[in-house]
Amino acid sequence: MIRTITLRPSLLAWAIKTFAVASVLATCCAAIAQDAEQAGEMKYAIAIHGGAGSSPDMFSPAANLQRRKSMEQALTIGSDILKAGGTSLDAVEKVVVFLENDPQFNAGVGAVFNAVGSHELDASIMDGSKLACGAVAGVSSVKNPISLARLVMTDTPHVMLAGTGAEDFAREMKVEVVEPSHFDTPKSKEAWERTKRRLSGLKPGQKPPPAIEEIGASQIGTVGCVALDSHGNVAAATSTGGMSNKKYGRVGDSPVIGAGTYADNKTVAVSCTGNGEEFIRHVVAAEVAAQIRYKKCSAAEAVAEMLNNRLQPDDGGIIAVCPNGEITMQFSTKGMARAAADSNGRFEVLWDEDYLPADKPAKQ
Ligand code: ASP
Repeated sequence: MIRTITLRPSLLAWAIKTFAVASVLATCCAAIAQDAEQAGEMKYAIAIHGGAGSSPDMFSPAANLQRRKSMEQALTIGSDILKAGGTSLDAVEKVVVFLENDPQFNAGVGAVFNAVGSHELDASIMDGSKLACGAVAGVSSVKNPISLARLVMTDTPHVMLAGTGAEDFAREMKVEVVEPSHFDTPKSKEAWERTKRRLSGLKPGQKPPPAIEEIGASQIGTVGCVALDSHGNVAAATSTGGMSNKKYGRVGDSPVIGAGTYADNKTVAVSCTGNGEEFIRHVVAAEVAAQIRYKKCSAAEAVAEMLNNRLQPDDGGIIAVCPNGEITMQFSTKGMARAAADSNGRFEVLWDEDYLPADKPAKQ
């Protein structure tokens, strides 16, 4: 049966008016968006670190190139999500998952060995739009600790799960689990054995050097990501194997919200790397946010204050991104692989300082 629809004149007038209003609105929105773009207003921004520690000249040119390539790939993953209108939370998680799966970094596969020859992984994530956060500490069979941390945030009333409780939760959530040996790499095993040899050379009563010195070249590789999305929300994520030869059960700053990770839409998203005990003592990530909030300073100033005046020289590095799109990436160690991109065309990877992604023009 064919039904004919007859429009009454009043209905027709209403339809024409609605269409006219909608077209005017659409034109206005497009003009506003264009103006914002022309004015250079930030729609998204992202920064990544691949751990603070040794300088690039501790590694072979091939290893450096490989590290830069991975940072570039991670940056592409994050900025593609943000460019497509995705959330900062998705961007930081996906970037960290990618780096956890890369054996060059001390997070997921490639994680350092603890004193009893196993791996205990820590991770945390925070959503600056709600101050929602989740963390896991001391897990040894969860392939991607950052995704489990996100599930702690979304699927439990808690902020942090540790050890066997976190492992049980992973199984409950059907998160991918692996044999602990999945995380082993020859590089981290060698570094651990070197550390043990050095420590066994200590005379009775001789104090071991600070953990950070013991770790040397192997320590570099904690990963973190901070992002601002086009909805105006910031997020942060950090993941690590911790410090080589750490005591069994030791938890660093990376899963501690406020120490290694923090995000608040009112101020900033922060991810830290370095000597975890010091970052916990100085609640570094939350302090960066507090300074911005109370001193009304920039993220660059707040981060510099922490690295230069509160922490010890050589303690680590901090990346941060603000809701206005400001990005800062600073470190007091010899090196920190880092990368940043934004909607104004920035796309850079910094490790060997002379490196620029192949398809990008040189930055003056
Ligand atoms: N902050 C990490 C920890 O103490 C290590 C690092 O960032 O290198 O566990």
